[in-house]
Amino acid sequence: MKSRQGDFTKPVYGWSPQGASFTSERARWGSDKKTLPVGDGTEASECLQKTYPSQLPSLSVILIFMNEALSIIQRAITSIINRTPSRLLKEIILVDDFSSNGEIKVQLDEKIKLYNQKCPGLLKIIRHPERKGLAQARNTGWEAATADVVAILDAHIEVNVGWAEPILARIQEDRTVIVSPVFDNIRFDTFKLDKYELAVDGFNWELWCRYDALPQAWIDRHDVTAPVKSPSIMGILAADRHFLGEIGSLDGGMLIYGGENVELSLRVWQCGGKIEILPCSRIAHLERHHKPYALDLTPALKRNALRVAEIWMDEHKHMVYLAWNIPLQNSGIDFGDISSRVALREKLKCKTFDWYLKNVYPLLKPIHTIVGYGRMKNLLDENVCLDQGPVPGNTPIMHYCHGFSSQNVYYHLTGELYVGQLIAEASARDRCLADPGNAEKPTLERCSEAARHGLHVYWDFKPGGAIINRDTKRCLEMKKDLLGKHVLVLQTCTTQAWEIQHTVGDWGQTNSQ
Ligand code: UDP
Ligand code: MN
Repeated sequence: MKSRQGDFTKPVYGWSPQGASFTSERARWGSDKKTLPVGDGTEASECLQKTYPSQLPSLSVILIFMNEALSIIQRAITSIINRTPSRLLKEIILVDDFSSNGEIKVQLDEKIKLYNQKCPGLLKIIRHPERKGLAQARNTGWEAATADVVAILDAHIEVNVGWAEPILARIQEDRTVIVSPVFDNIRFDTFKLDKYELAVDGFNWELWCRYDALPQAWIDRHDVTAPVKSPSIMGILAADRHFLGEIGSLDGGMLIYGGENVELSLRVWQCGGKIEILPCSRIAHLERHHKPYALDLTPALKRNALRVAEIWMDEHKHMVYLAWNIPLQNSGIDFGDISSRVALREKLKCKTFDWYLKNVYPLLKPIHTIVGYGRMKNLLDENVCLDQGPVPGNTPIMHYCHGFSSQNVYYHLTGELYVGQLIAEASARDRCLADPGNAEKPTLERCSEAARHGLHVYWDFKPGGAIINRDTKRCLEMKKDLLGKHVLVLQTCTTQAWEIQHTVGDWGQTNSQ
């Protein structure tokens, strides 16, 4: 799973797959999630009191891996065998996505033999003859599975006591639900367990994972064991095996890593299923220190995100392009052949993405007023770009141009100028360029609050022209400081002109410069 940005714990400005301010590794799982002392979860005692039907569907557990330590895989297998009722556990299927690590070849095969001596036929292993990536590894496991329900997991996990029963009972009740357990974190260096609080799995417009607050409707039920409706999954999932096939398993056109979880989520919701987090099913996931799949995962994340946008997002797909700062036309990014997935969408008579946004994920806000985006340069010196400046902080700067999202700028026809990563949520924390009125330096303010606080956040701008505050009539300009560095100032307009990287919509034909 992807260690996602926890919206209620930490500002999101610091990290993005586009601009790794903290680390170049991306992980879906909540490294910034609130942790609780083990055993203190409010749902724990209620979960213990839950009873489940004596007849439950059978379970295939799929563990996918690529270059994992043998001991890690054994920990996963052992936890599954010890903590799943044997009458329910039909098989454990290991899928090796072309590992090169010698330890998990012969030695793993020997371990499998030993397990199977005790429990005949329980373990199976499938090895890809070439690297196929995360989505295809999950599909390989699903294709080989034979039980009623599949739980498709990473191999660096340990399941907790009672993890399977809530999953099997819920899927028995409704075969169209894709479920996710709650994840705790196993620290890769100490194996210490951090218990994470319950949250729903969401994503931003880069289609990168984030944790969102629990829905009010769930809180109002006052039942901490009740399933939580969720817009997305982090990656790991359990489903009715046949239902997962009917809706198209995972998109095998997803390469390497990322995006496949959002693709499945949109497909499930838009095509008649649902996604729920089950508070009583807990799995501990080890967040890898380093992902060995590619030197830089960003190109895979980006092209997989465009694939999701093109298949599922209709008139809102531009938001993914904007968030990744990709031109809307001639992006130069090959997201592969999507015709079979588009045909699947038609065959299943799936609803629109607009329906999904309104009914499932109202927190995610599409914006249709953005007419210019990308790097903003002053024609005096095109080596420097408008930049959100140090984080934390609210002072934008001019900084040498780079590829990170801290220099993404979004100009709206309505006059707002967002600086930094595009967030676009209902409680928008996007940061708007503001003229504080008297001081010489501009500031960045939360767009949702800035106008209310009387800050001047509306600007007139056309490509190749001045940036003029609509209220104060001052211009955003550059001047050299004592060291000869360009600094931003608000002043009576001279003749300074600015260019923005991509234009769209009412500014004329879509084009990029
Ligand atoms: N994986 C794979 N092939 C790849 C990339 C990833 O089989 O080319 C598997 C990996 O072994 C893991 C799962 O996909 O079981 C998810 O990857 P990872 O755990 O690194 O990412 P997370 O989503 O947990 O952050
Ligand atoms: Mn993982």
